[in-house]
Amino acid sequence: MKYISTRGTGTPVSAAQAIKQGLAADGGLFVPESVPTLSAQDLNALCALSYPERAARILSMFLTDYTEEELLADCRAAYSEAAFVGGTAPLVGVHAPIEVMELWHGPTAAFKDMALQIMPRLLSRALAKTGEKRTALILVATSGDTGKAALEGYRDIPQIKMIVFYPVDGVSRVQKLQMATQEGQNLSVCAIRGNFDDAQNGVKEIFGDAAIAEKLNGKGYFLSSANSINWGRLAPQIVYYVSAFCDLINAGKRAVGEPFDVCVPTGNFGNIFAAYLAKRMGLPIRRLICASNANNILTDFLETGVYDRNRRFYLTMSPSMDILISSNLERLLWFVAGPEKTAGYMKQLRETGRYEVGADVLAAIRRDFTGYYADETATAETIRKLWERDGYLSDPHTAVALTAAERYLAQTQSQIPLVVDSTASPYKFANNVYRSIVGKEASGDLEALDELSALTGTGIPYPLAGLSSRPVRFRGVCNRDEMAEQVLSFAR
Ligand SMILES: *Cc1c(COP(=O)(O)O)cnc(C)c1O
Repeated sequence: MKYISTRGTGTPVSAAQAIKQGLAADGGLFVPESVPTLSAQDLNALCALSYPERAARILSMFLTDYTEEELLADCRAAYSEAAFVGGTAPLVGVHAPIEVMELWHGPTAAFKDMALQIMPRLLSRALAKTGEKRTALILVATSGDTGKAALEGYRDIPQIKMIVFYPVDGVSRVQKLQMATQEGQNLSVCAIRGNFDDAQNGVKEIFGDAAIAEKLNGKGYFLSSANSINWGRLAPQIVYYVSAFCDLINAGKRAVGEPFDVCVPTGNFGNIFAAYLAKRMGLPIRRLICASNANNILTDFLETGVYDRNRRFYLTMSPSMDILISSNLERLLWFVAGPEKTAGYMKQLRETGRYEVGADVLAAIRRDFTGYYADETATAETIRKLWERDGYLSDPHTAVALTAAERYLAQTQSQIPLVVDSTASPYKFANNVYRSIVGKEASGDLEALDELSALTGTGIPYPLAGLSSRPVRFRGVCNRDEMAEQVLSFAR
């Protein structure tokens, strides 16, 4: 299976090359030339397997230049029971027909672990497969959550090093502690005096600096990114939709061929696009419900066909969805409208911040997708209601999706299973969850963990428990103009 650019130029490349390269040469995203199909027989066979085995089987359909043995070894290491203590992607029946799929039982208590535990292993193999002798040095600027999940995923992966920059006063105390106590010999973390944009621009400048690239090359390094649009991060996300259907079959709630719906809290459109690919593979997903927070650019797009980022930007309690450019939407546009139109939309987006798809394209998208959004009040209300009515504790991102799911059910009276993605542990956003239930804040961000646990009688997940007593490994703070020095001295 080869991969091509959504913008239609360049030669097809192998999966390994697509994963190593990240972006296509014309600025487009890599998509598989064709989508493999899952037969009823395949599905039945998958139902008998463990999560890592299901993952290896499905990934091998897309990553045909990786052997199934390689993928099985990587999936077993990535999705081990030691790392995913509460299960890999368990379904929790909150109230019929809603089945919450908890994607946050991994080592950082966030759904990004589902991709970032396996993607670095795929990249490490891609380096060998493409004959790369140098070490990949990955630079990340983070406003908090992605940084920790990336660090944990790349920890002690051969031929890869990573340095993470974060704004010294721009992340929560919990996030800072999570990064400062990170283990792993190939990693470094550095706080920047400045805000997230300073960290981000600093990283961009280093990427664009030929002299730095030359120096690094001399030391046997090349720069790379852990970007969320990398195919190696997307492919593993297809797996849990297939796995959820197998779990529904095994629980006697569905039979092969019977439909179910999916609702996804959406930011960059990666997670829901993975569900779309699962549907194209033949998984009987009926409707893809795209849930947004107050930054409801996707809800508007699905309603009108106009994508317009010239709008107010809101900071919400679901920060991973505070996004006005949903990069992976480009992949859907490619499937529905083809490369020429997609390249045109992206050009308009770059130049004017806006594009509009034709009625035919919108109709094709709406055959599969429906959008809803939840503002802050509705989100907090859902957190409180789900806790009081169902005894289910949800984080704000999950609550946005649960709000959308309930509106959809109220409108359609649907009775078939509705799988709602839960993308973070409520303890990652403990203070907001606490405030939504109690009506006032806990004593502090770190204190909120214990106070939420005492309030609800639920346990703090292992990645977040005892955080303040772990040894701090990284204390460095530097100015923005010292970032390049940090990178060069780390590349020893
Ligand atoms: C990244 C993230 C999302 C959004 O996922 P996309 O693939 O970007 O749509 C939702 N919730 C949480 C907690 C996240 O970290």
